[in-house]
Amino acid sequence: MIIKDLLLGKVAVVTGGTRGIGFAIVRKFLEQGATVVLFGSREATAQAAVDRLHEENPDYPVFGLAPELDNYTNVEQTFKQIVADHGHIDILANNAGISARDSLYDYKPEDFDKIMDLNVKALFNCSKAAAPYMREQGNGCIINTSSMVSIYGQAAGCGYPASKFAVNGLTKSLARELGKDGIRVNAVAPGVTNTDMLTSLPKELADRVSAGIPLGRPGEPEEIANVFLFLASDLASYVTGAIVSVDGATQV
Ligand code: NAD
Repeated sequence: MIIKDLLLGKVAVVTGGTRGIGFAIVRKFLEQGATVVLFGSREATAQAAVDRLHEENPDYPVFGLAPELDNYTNVEQTFKQIVADHGHIDILANNAGISARDSLYDYKPEDFDKIMDLNVKALFNCSKAAAPYMREQGNGCIINTSSMVSIYGQAAGCGYPASKFAVNGLTKSLARELGKDGIRVNAVAPGVTNTDMLTSLPKELADRVSAGIPLGRPGEPEEIANVFLFLASDLASYVTGAIVSVDGATQV
């Protein structure tokens, strides 16, 4: 099946775009004609991701930046610069995220803050910085990476599911608030996906989790990116406020 030019002329920002699900989203958006600015946690990793994509296709209009996502002033300046460089911003994929599995007894309060700062506050900061430009042009779309744990919770590492419940709350609330400005806001809730986040789990746990997936395997980053593409495109022009599960029907 050939799907072509779904995002032709669009400018997209993808946070956490250097590897895993984010990298797959960046590649998918580029394949469909978008200009993409990817964010990484460091300039070197952002540039390495850009270089990797240019090895695949030297003509890809892809750029790498590393703003401090928990610092609103820095984020606001970065979006201002992106609009100055590329003219507009049409799609924001808030994908950067970290997880942890400490029990409540061992959970360090500063680690709880770290999860919230990236998984929740960065999403707020980037959305707040991008939305005025989208409102000005009368359209735009924000897609957040949630997780299946935003539905089921998780038996350890409570900060991570708490952050993803907050992602869903922001998604549904911003969809209601920004609809009048032509801005759609949705979230994708992946199940277990084959990225560094999965390989960092203890093998016994990763095997147990995979065994419980009705489709019999973890998802691939590209399978998650396909849903981002749909939501970013005009095919989803009446979809907003949705939390779309992409998890092989996992129930935990
Ligand atoms: P990953 O660890 O492969 O990638 C994480 C990305 O976030 C990287 O690009 C990294 O640069 C960025 N990042 C990490 N810390 C950062 C920081 N302090 N500042 C800026 N950027 C930072 O993980 P992934 O599996 O691709 O996860 C991407 C998203 O998908 C996350 O929001 C995660 O919660 C979610 N998710 C993953 C899975 C899974 O099984 N892999 C399942 C459900 C949801």
